[in-house]
Amino acid sequence: MAAFTLHGIPVSRGISIGRAHLLTPAALDVKHYLVPEEQVEAEVARLQHAFAEVHRELQELWTELPKDAPTELGAFIDVHVLILSDPMISEAPLDIIRSRHYNAEWALVTQIDELSAQFDEIEDPYLRERKQDIQQVAERVLKVLMGTELHAPPPAPPGEDHFQPQMIVVAHDISPADMLAFRDRSFVGFVTDVGGQNSHTAIVARSLDIPAAVGMSQASRLIEQDDWVIVDGDAGVVIANPSALVLEQYRAKQTALMKARKRLLKLKKTPAVTKDGTAIALLANIELPDDCGPALEAGAAGVGLFRSEFLFMGRGAQGLRVPDEDEQFEQYRKAVLAMKGRPVTIRTLDVGADKPLDQAEHTALNPALGLRAIRYCLAEPQMFLAQLRAILRASSFGKVRILIPMLAHAFEIDQTLTMIAQAKQQLREQHVKFDEAIEVGAMIEIPAAALALPMFVKRLDFLSIGTNDLIQYTLAIDRVDYEVAHLYNPLHPAVLQLIAMTIDAGRKAGIDVAVCGEMAGDVKLTRLLLGMGLREFSMHPAQLLAVKQEILASDLETLVPRTRRILRAMEPAAIADAVEQLQTL
Ligand code: PEP
Ligand code: MG
Repeated sequence: MAAFTLHGIPVSRGISIGRAHLLTPAALDVKHYLVPEEQVEAEVARLQHAFAEVHRELQELWTELPKDAPTELGAFIDVHVLILSDPMISEAPLDIIRSRHYNAEWALVTQIDELSAQFDEIEDPYLRERKQDIQQVAERVLKVLMGTELHAPPPAPPGEDHFQPQMIVVAHDISPADMLAFRDRSFVGFVTDVGGQNSHTAIVARSLDIPAAVGMSQASRLIEQDDWVIVDGDAGVVIANPSALVLEQYRAKQTALMKARKRLLKLKKTPAVTKDGTAIALLANIELPDDCGPALEAGAAGVGLFRSEFLFMGRGAQGLRVPDEDEQFEQYRKAVLAMKGRPVTIRTLDVGADKPLDQAEHTALNPALGLRAIRYCLAEPQMFLAQLRAILRASSFGKVRILIPMLAHAFEIDQTLTMIAQAKQQLREQHVKFDEAIEVGAMIEIPAAALALPMFVKRLDFLSIGTNDLIQYTLAIDRVDYEVAHLYNPLHPAVLQLIAMTIDAGRKAGIDVAVCGEMAGDVKLTRLLLGMGLREFSMHPAQLLAVKQEILASDLETLVPRTRRILRAMEPAAIADAVEQLQTL
């Protein structure tokens, strides 16, 4: 197999080496091949096993149905079990394998196509609709089959385990919710055709601390199932079927990186203080309460951003509704208790754009400019109140702060504060404890907000700069679109001005300002942000110690005047140069 290299966008650092695991929509990508006579019964058994597995999955879905789930949900599972047990589905494809030697997937799809054609002839609309159920059942079986292909994988390169290879996911695209579901599986790398450096899928990959590269355009077409692949998450390079020499080079690089990371662990307990004695707060960004473990291991002083929307996402596909107040409360309390008195900043629901509540809801023409984040919450007051009550309840178990995303208008801030007051009043009436003095802060991530800071500092207790969106909205670059990813520039003078203005306004008003966008975790920008006056950084735990190392080596007395000069510069090349120079000081 010939080696080839693909170049894309680096997303999550490190190097991984493993076999490609292609994620493709099952029905669209069914392989067709003839099975040799002596393997026919094994192929039959493979399909029978897949049927049994789907049967088990459906039973499990049944038992996991919440008590208050709508009755149609149970009925829908029943229909799928019935379909699966029908000989037209469970027997006929086995005959096709035996008589025509088709592989299991092909045999199943052949039979489903035949049945679908018969359903099209039926006049009764109810029965005609059952065709969809049959297809959904077939999809489930195909998904199981995809994981059990019998063809022989290519031999392992020297030094790699043939039977227990590390798996690298290769896909056209992965939704943030799907990415989160991978946390429990043993994948060591991610490669996608599309996506941007700061898409939420990329952010989740970073929080899983697994090498990843996106924007590879053709990767999922060119790389084949079980191919050996190297992912260089620092360079955004993917090498398929590497030669022994290339493999050796990357293994050496991988070992060096691992050693460097181990060395960083020594800094865990070292206070984050610059050379001139200025203390810097390093906090963690988390998606789920379980991320508090890695945050504490990295020595985080608290959680600067809990992206609560991850508790809400991907549930539609499992037939679940949004988490109710109690379920949310349990999750928030879990994070608060895990952080043992350190502050936990819970951001209210930021759905929309690349984080739809449900994939099916993706209908807005410009979702990033649509009903996203606080706009969505104010349009769904009951849901918002439930979340606010859940957060407030958690505040009696430790220090909690409320962070509101995507604010731009004064009336949005006022409405939000009114709703927080309302949630507090409801809890008081129920004699439920909460922190009366809970702090409320705003994400500064829309340019309009950064240009109207007095409106914010007057009403709120703290600010947190969301550089991911601030760059997206300032430069009009969709952060998810790899075709314009080269224009997504954190060092654009307009972006730097807005960040500097926000830090200054906070300092003048005497309120805390953090950066919780991805810029906070980029070691190449640590000194620039310090020079701008930033004292609070929130990032993925995996970045924290490397940023601390930069802080320990920084001297504000030299950084501040240099940074002032950078902020006056308007030529991108000169700015980039000067920022690079800061690292040599
Ligand atoms: C940001 O926009 O920088 C941010 C931290 O929020 P998110 O990435 O979740 O939009
Ligand atoms: Mg944002």
